[in-house]
Amino acid sequence: MADPDLAKRRLSLRLRGESAFGLKSVAMDSKGLHALQAAKQPAARPKASPPPLLASTEAESLPVEPNSTEFTDPVASRPEKVSLLANMDISQVKPCVRCRLCKTRKNTVFGEGDPDAAIFFIGEGPGENEDLQGRPFVGRAGELLNKMIAGMGLRREQVFIVNIVKCRPPDNRVPAPDEVEACTPYLVKQLEIIRPKVIVTLGLPSAKYMLASKLSMGKLRGQWHNWRGIKLMPTYHPAFLLRAYTEENRAAVWSDLKKVLTEVGLPIPGKSAK
Ligand code: SF4
Repeated sequence: MADPDLAKRRLSLRLRGESAFGLKSVAMDSKGLHALQAAKQPAARPKASPPPLLASTEAESLPVEPNSTEFTDPVASRPEKVSLLANMDISQVKPCVRCRLCKTRKNTVFGEGDPDAAIFFIGEGPGENEDLQGRPFVGRAGELLNKMIAGMGLRREQVFIVNIVKCRPPDNRVPAPDEVEACTPYLVKQLEIIRPKVIVTLGLPSAKYMLASKLSMGKLRGQWHNWRGIKLMPTYHPAFLLRAYTEENRAAVWSDLKKVLTEVGLPIPGKSAK
């Protein structure tokens, strides 16, 4: 590889991503190994015990993901991000059988948006329409999310949208803890690749996972939190807003989103999302 910096970034991202799934090695030549060693930072990650997962040959070494260790590797270029995300989707997520949700899904839902997005939305899990189409937030809740994004003066294609699990939980139930544990290394890897300025969690399950918190949404939302050095704003899920479409709830969400816009340096449009 002609560019040593590019080699370092690719090798480092690849190893860190694959190690999250319990792979103990990746094939590389001595040049690549030297580049990776140069790219690694001396700061040690907190030691983590493997969580109990479903029976799997890879499960034993899946790490618990701390929410305090900042990403230290250089941010990939846009073409690198596109390639890394596509490879992860095709080679890891689409064939994934790491949890029971693989048995009932019609499609995996990797997530979509701008790989250079400053704002990264995280929902709970795919619903029926998302499962059928393989895309996140395409049902009624998705229409409202689109309106919320439009209310921010943005288009859906300018942000990135994912869920904490990539397969539909049957009957739209909340993902089980072991399903979240099995799936969230993909989410962490997406965040490491995209490296947004702000994460917006939609609903309590994603906020609880990201913040390792037991607090209610009422206590979490509206406040800035930190996830591995990235600012995180919890807000209500659009599906909740559809169920409780009150002036108060809409105002709360708009208040949260205005803070997000200010944080990423974008102007606040003069009217709220309706
Ligand atoms: S929910 Fe995630 S971990 Fe479970 S099968 Fe789907 S992609 Fe794999």
